[in-house]
Amino acid sequence: MGKVTGFLEIDRLEEGYEPVAQRVKNYKEFVIGLNTEQAKLQGARCMDCGTPFCNNGCPVNNIIPDFNDLVYRGRPQDWAQAIKVLHSTNNFPEFTGRICPAPCEAACTLNVNNDPVGIKSIEHAIIDRAWAEGWVQPQPAAVKTGKSVAVVGSGPSGLAAAQQLARAGHAVTVFEKNSRVGGLLRYGIPDFKLEKSHIDRRVAQMQAEGVEFRTGVLVGAMPAEGAGAKVTNDAQLTISADELKSQFDAVLLAGGAELSRDLPVPGRELDGVHFAMEFLPQQNKVNAGDTLAQQIRADGKHVIVIGGGDTGSDCVGTSNRHGAASVTQFEVMPQPPAVENRPLTWPYWPIKLRTSSSHDEGCVREFAIATKAFTGSDGKVSGLKTVQVEFKDGKFSDVPGTERDYPADLVLLAMGFVHPLETVLRAFGVDRDARGNAKAGTEDGSGYRTNVDKVFAAGDMRRGQSLVVWAIREGRQAAREVDRFLMGDTTLPR
Ligand SMILES: Cc1cc2nc3c(=O)[nH]c(=O)nc-3n(C[C@H](O)[C@H](O)[C@H](O)COP(=O)(O)OP(=O)(O)OC[C@H]3O[C@@H](n4cnc5c(N)ncnc54)[C@H](O)[C@@H]3O)c2cc1C
Ligand code: SF4
Repeated sequence: MGKVTGFLEIDRLEEGYEPVAQRVKNYKEFVIGLNTEQAKLQGARCMDCGTPFCNNGCPVNNIIPDFNDLVYRGRPQDWAQAIKVLHSTNNFPEFTGRICPAPCEAACTLNVNNDPVGIKSIEHAIIDRAWAEGWVQPQPAAVKTGKSVAVVGSGPSGLAAAQQLARAGHAVTVFEKNSRVGGLLRYGIPDFKLEKSHIDRRVAQMQAEGVEFRTGVLVGAMPAEGAGAKVTNDAQLTISADELKSQFDAVLLAGGAELSRDLPVPGRELDGVHFAMEFLPQQNKVNAGDTLAQQIRADGKHVIVIGGGDTGSDCVGTSNRHGAASVTQFEVMPQPPAVENRPLTWPYWPIKLRTSSSHDEGCVREFAIATKAFTGSDGKVSGLKTVQVEFKDGKFSDVPGTERDYPADLVLLAMGFVHPLETVLRAFGVDRDARGNAKAGTEDGSGYRTNVDKVFAAGDMRRGQSLVVWAIREGRQAAREVDRFLMGDTTLPR
């Protein structure tokens, strides 16, 4: 373990942020990671508990006490070993070390006292040093199997699966309908949370390991109308599900859960009411140097973001960078407590008020509020009609006398995602579960298999809207099942 008395002597240290006035001027990352000495002190605080709740709280089961100890020891060879430990469970710690909500820290035993080990900041420090030192190198398979796998979708689940399968010796081709690789890492999560050079660097590593990427290729079909028709799709080429099944020995569907939840109230058709996932991808494309015919902009506008989660928060941060006149975020649920009831919730993920770095950049937050209508003139939105709601007996009801009008020139709908695009699953004949996701279990030995022969599913496409770390886990586990299907057995880790 780290320092035996470390947790008694050393305080938790948060990563720093560039000042708000500075960071809202651009789209660059603004988190100031721990330096080697600070990471060592955080590592020293780990108690290496007999039951490491952190390891269980982490969806990829990172072996946290081991890398904490290595970082505490602090010699170059210890750091080099720390990245090996980290990579043994997580293909992409540079993503999770930046944007994971860190359920591991909620589960840390020190969180009983509200000062968990800064696990995520240590992970961030390890992988950034590993890249800087040249410790992250391609690991091409020594022996090729002669088997081929198509992965549909290049988000974190598709990427993790593709890397595992290529390292197992299979010929892997990743199909992506958008013009760049990365899924929501690329076109959902803003650059100020995750700069895209991190994805490019991994893609280069994976290409050197033999993975082929075919971008701008749609597998199956897109919906012709409705919310599904607004999903980002840059494809110039289409390949049918049958072609894919005949050309490859196995197919893994990792297309995400792309159908945004709509708000079908009067005035929804007005110009200026958009899905978050129309707004956010455009800014990421502009940051990447693309020229768009038209961009949804927030400059000088009163912006209302409907939806209190991460996607909504990303809309807040992007609107402030555009120079919005005001930004207000609505959440239909009541405001949660600032501090959770820890004896009741630990080591699980608690419901509590979470204030993101985007909120700190300027945003009014309204809770327990529902939008009844969008109002406007000449086809353009100019406001919203709202009411306060209470959640009783499993349903929301309006609180009489709380009706209110809000001015708005831009409304962004960030109310989550319903399920994957039905057209893609239908093209393969894949059964859907009760929530509309690809139906497949996760059990060791037969998991991730759909009802269709040699077709597997993982990530948000299988589990519904989730987190990057869960997508990585599913991609790794699905790769193991695909490898077992192709070879009769597998040595890939679960
Ligand atoms: C705005 C936003 C912010 C988020 N922030 C965070 C965060 O901070 N931390 C966190 O942990 N999680 C966050 N998430 C959630 C996280 O991004 C997702 O859970 C994760 O990316 C899911 O990974 P995936 O690989 O399953 O799917 P995705 O990342 O959705 O990737 C699926 C890919 O498949 C492609 N595809 C789909 N169908 C086809 C087809 N038919 N043919 C070819 N290609 C296809 C899509 O174009 C897409 O590129 C955020 C999500 C959003 C929307
Ligand atoms: S991946 Fe997320 S949950 Fe796991 S150790 Fe890293 S920050 Fe914690």
